[in-house]
Amino acid sequence: MTGFGYDVHRLAAGESLVLGGVPIASDFGTVAHSDGDVVLHALCDALLGAAGLGDIGEHFPDTDPRWKNAPSSTFVLHVCTLLRAGAWSIVNIDIALTLEAPKILPYKQRMREGIAELLALPVARVNIKATTSERLGFIGRGEGVACYCVAEIVGAS
Ligand code: MG
Repeated sequence: MTGFGYDVHRLAAGESLVLGGVPIASDFGTVAHSDGDVVLHALCDALLGAAGLGDIGEHFPDTDPRWKNAPSSTFVLHVCTLLRAGAWSIVNIDIALTLEAPKILPYKQRMREGIAELLALPVARVNIKATTSERLGFIGRGEGVACYCVAEIVGAS
């Protein structure tokens, strides 16, 4: 089964920026209830979508104090628990991160390794692509960051 996830967060000066679980050195960070990690949020939605389990907002509502200030890795681990309960195994993950700055290349391998560890997958099964928006639109103006993710999962039987 295939699932698709998409997430956007607003960027503002002085906020922290965490992408794929990795703190990024930047003057701009995400404005969010959580850590605003668009990569892990898109990943959760892709996995939930593949398993037919709705979306991240249903599982981790803003209003639930259980998830307040939780790192997004907590969401990923919870989604993995749901997948295991449904006897699903993850085949591979492909992520496309879109932001104008800073350059993501120095962080990509750490993101891959961290996500692979969260998902208990070999690093080769997790791919991360990063691109700018060619200075076009809200991403191009540095007002936000977006992430797309596709996940493939397979049933145990
Ligand atoms: Mg989000």
